[in-house]
Amino acid sequence: MQEITGEINSSYTPYGEFKNHIGEVVTVKGTIHNIRDMSDFAFIILRTARELIQCVYSPEFSDFRLSEDIVEQACAKVSAKVVQSQTRDGSERYELQIHNIELLSKPADIPPVVISKKQVVCDLNVLLDNRPVTLRNPKERAIFKIQEGIQRGFRDYLISKNFTEIHSPKINFAGAEGGTNVFKLDYFGKTVYLAQSPQLYKQALVPVYERVFEIAPVFRAEHHDTSRHLNEYISMDFEMGFIDGFEDIMNMETGALKYIMNLLKTEYAPEVELLKVDIPEITSIPTIKFKDAKALCVKKLKNITDMKDFEPEEEAFLGKWAKQQYNSDFLFVTHYLSKKRPFYTMDDPEDPEVTLSFDLLFRGIEITSGGQRIHDYNQQVEKMKKSGMNPEEFETYLMLHKYGAPPHGGLGLGLERLTMHLLGFKNVRYATMFPRDINRVTP
Ligand code: ATP
Ligand code: MG
Repeated sequence: MQEITGEINSSYTPYGEFKNHIGEVVTVKGTIHNIRDMSDFAFIILRTARELIQCVYSPEFSDFRLSEDIVEQACAKVSAKVVQSQTRDGSERYELQIHNIELLSKPADIPPVVISKKQVVCDLNVLLDNRPVTLRNPKERAIFKIQEGIQRGFRDYLISKNFTEIHSPKINFAGAEGGTNVFKLDYFGKTVYLAQSPQLYKQALVPVYERVFEIAPVFRAEHHDTSRHLNEYISMDFEMGFIDGFEDIMNMETGALKYIMNLLKTEYAPEVELLKVDIPEITSIPTIKFKDAKALCVKKLKNITDMKDFEPEEEAFLGKWAKQQYNSDFLFVTHYLSKKRPFYTMDDPEDPEVTLSFDLLFRGIEITSGGQRIHDYNQQVEKMKKSGMNPEEFETYLMLHKYGAPPHGGLGLGLERLTMHLLGFKNVRYATMFPRDINRVTP
């Protein structure tokens, strides 16, 4: 009988352990990423999960001859001697002198796009059409390793602050925040909606766990093709109870961002280096009220017509302003107009025209919206009626308020938006593995 013990018998040596095996013969498994034939010897670059390993073929020490079978994208098991060498900048690296290669698989065709160079050079659409292949390029895959780091940092930090991780349903009877950008779905003859945000559920869980978070897809039927909107994106949400004010939410986010940036610098150093990521230094994040920010924009920019919200140019300007004024890549804009924020947002008791809410701008683009929510039942019913909503349709949502809820608030942070601006991309699709937009549902 074969017994499954839960142990993976790893018969190969990861790159990180090469330093303990200098001069010894090790076995490595990987994909042949690149072959450079130098006539009397050849470099065979092996791609493993996170690195490229330089292997050298030479009739002097290799027990086989290069043949047509040894091609790029073939998977191989290599036995080789570890030798230490130096890179151009003088840092240590390890090279393998190949003794033997056992081919584990062979591709049927050559890749449609060159992926073995430093960078994949092609049009964005070609890059995305061929994602299963283009992601194999080390720079492309590093983007999503960084993205993993962001999510991991968010999760680890919040768990360390006693948050509970939740998953809310994505098929819902009502769209969370209404509006025109909900996707309708035929659900056995009934019309239902894809979740635009976990808002109503995360609030419902505040009286249960006090602090909750979710990292999950949300769906928005954005009707325009823009460089910063997707129709499905990953929202990193949290909601926390017993707050003293919405500053608690901004502080929690600032703490999480500091933690994330530090995690990237340490645990994701190879990818940070490869992509030359400009990691922001965060000590504290400045804040400005919406009306003051608007006044700045009106003073400095021409043709501002919308006094209730920001145009992308205004956000970009505010980003530059925060950099100049405070040397900060981030800026919290607070107290957005009540008319412009969703029905669950708490108005400022000192000025009901504005709300206890904020957006976080990162390098001049919104990455987060958040704020304090209404917890009082009558106040919430009143605000719903004022916004033309029927409270009866929100009976289960209102259970939260009806049966007692603490003062609370939270936020939603777009993972792809943050990744995009961290890596300096002009289009959010570069920071999305398999983007869904108005023109794309494949691959
Ligand atoms: P925007 O004004 O940029 O369209 P929003 O204010 O409608 O965004 P929110 O509901 O505040 O979006 O969502 C919270 C966060 O989710 C945003 O700050 C952003 O990071 C991200 N986000 C929102 N919509 C999208 C989208 N269509 N694609 C990618 N990320 C998005
Ligand atoms: Mg917003």
